[in-house]
Parts: sequence; structure tokens; C-alpha cells
Amino acid sequence: MAGRRHAGHPGALHPSARGLIPRAVVSKPGRGPAGFPRRPATLGSIPQRTDSFDLGGLRLSSGEGRRLQLHAGTDPLVLSGQRYAIEPASLPVTLDVSRMTAGGYALRLRFEACLTGPCMRCLGAAGPTVAVDAREVDQAGAGDELDSPYVSDAELDLRGWVRDALALALPSQVVCRDDCAGLCPVCGEDLNLAGADHAHERQPDPRWAKLRELRLD
Ligand SMILES: [Zn+2]
Ligand SMILES: [Zn+2]
Repeated sequence: MAGRRHAGHPGALHPSARGLIPRAVVSKPGRGPAGFPRRPATLGSIPQRTDSFDLGGLRLSSGEGRRLQLHAGTDPLVLSGQRYAIEPASLPVTLDVSRMTAGGYALRLRFEACLTGPCMRCLGAAGPTVAVDAREVDQAGAGDELDSPYVSDAELDLRGWVRDALALALPSQVVCRDDCAGLCPVCGEDLNLAGADHAHERQPDPRWAKLRELRLD
């Protein structure tokens, strides 16, 4: 990791330096930071991210396997119109790669990620941790079921697989806690804070109100 800059927190940067920071770093194994004039200061202590992984580069013989500890790049998820950040942004993953005797690869991906964003019931802060254990098989010419969408020419789209596997493993609702009471549908108050006796007078039926207007006595 020589050549990596330790410029500290981005808040410490001179404003004119901010424009020089690339928005995203896409790194491949074996490719150093040389192609980038400058790495984001916030990555100073974060391990190198892998977005795409060259399975062929492992040079596995038939039946051989390898376990890899990588850091995958992630993208925020948008669920029900709300944005959820994934932490850590450089996500530690365990990737098991096996070269199958019939050719191709069997893959297993495991990681834990924390999602942070609004609770879908009360809009308070929610941060559930999701455990993912996903498998893929890619064998050229063996039919669609054995053709992983994340592998092409022995190149694994790790970032895409992490994104989709995480989305599939999510609960149907992201909540601050399982028994979150949500917001009152009448006044919008947070029912977790308002207490169980929070209630409203029943509103008069608007149709009767209309009839009263018509009464001519
Ligand atoms: Zn909630
Ligand atoms: Zn209310």
C-alpha cells in the first residue's frame, strides 16, 4: 500500500483540494493505485476494494478450491424510495472458489452487512445487520441454470453479486426493532413514544356533517 496518502479526515482538506478527489475508486486485484492521480483521503485506512475478481488468475486445477478474504465495494440500496447506506462501505467478504471437475466454477459468498436508514414504520433510525450466504455455479455450455450472471470469461462481478445477494437476504421491511409500533395514522405521532393509550376521538362521519348542513329547521 505504498503511495497511499494519509491526508486525514476530508474535513481537514483545503476546499480547493476537494475537487481533485475522484468520486469512486474501482480497483482490481493486482492493479495498484498508480492509475489514479490521487486516492480519496477517506480511504486512507481502508483495505483495497475488489469490484471484479479474476477467477482464472487463481490457476486452480480441476477439483481444487481456494478461500479468499476480500473487501467488496458496495452501493447504497434504495428501498421503497428510501436510501439505505451499507456499512462498512468496503465490505469484508469470504469467497470460496472451487474449480469443478466438469469445468467451470462453484462459488460461495458470505458476509455480514449493516444497513442504515429510516425505519419503514416510524422513520426513526434503523440499522439491521443482515447475514448473507449465497452460492453460484458457472459452467460454460451447461445450460442457463449453470450459467451464473455474475461470471463471464472467468471474471467474477463481485460488486454486483454482493448487491443482489444482499437485496435478496433483506427482511421485507427494514425496521428499527421488530415490535416498532410505527406512526399514528391520524396525527403522525411516533407511537413508540406516545404510549399504548394514545387514541383519538372518533371523527364524525363526513356524510352526516353534509346532511346537517342541509337541515333547514
Ligand atoms: Zn421504527
Ligand atoms: Zn395520533
